[in-house]
Amino acid sequence: MTTCASCNQTILFGGYVEDGFRFCNKKCAKKGSIIRDAARIPESDVTPRVWEIRNGRCPSCSGPGPIDLHRSYRVWSGLVMTSYSTRQNVCCARCAQGARMKDAAFSLVFGWWGFPWGLIWTPIQVARNVWAMVRAEDSSAPSNDLKTLVRLQLAAGAAAAKDNPITTYAGVPR
Ligand SMILES: [Zn+2]
Ligand SMILES: [Zn+2]
Repeated sequence: MTTCASCNQTILFGGYVEDGFRFCNKKCAKKGSIIRDAARIPESDVTPRVWEIRNGRCPSCSGPGPIDLHRSYRVWSGLVMTSYSTRQNVCCARCAQGARMKDAAFSLVFGWWGFPWGLIWTPIQVARNVWAMVRAEDSSAPSNDLKTLVRLQLAAGAAAAKDNPITTYAGVPR
């Protein structure tokens, strides 16, 4: 049994091979190559962009920074299916708390209605939001998450200039 080098899904039949890696399809191969490219971008290209974002204005409230990558968590269910996700918000700390509050409320309203996974994932996602809200985040320097995002952005931008792929990182300030 093989798994996709990009998304880790199990590949039952066929798939798509590139550079000796096996992927679900061409779309995953493209993402996989962006991840490999991202790792090769020199620190000296990444750092200035990271600080530019960090010292910029908040993309959601236009307030002053510091701006960083903050995660929030949500889940919704529809009878037989439950969908949970981690959302990446590039914003100020206040907007991050707001996003977590909203996602916790969203999950409490829409998360439960699937059996059994809704009953399991709703408390998990709500707890993750609450935990993220009470945990004191170290705001003295840009997080590694933001650096990773910038790397992926730069790699995706370079790939876009090359052959115009699907942009997977939407909603991030340029
Ligand atoms: Zn895949
Ligand atoms: Zn904000």
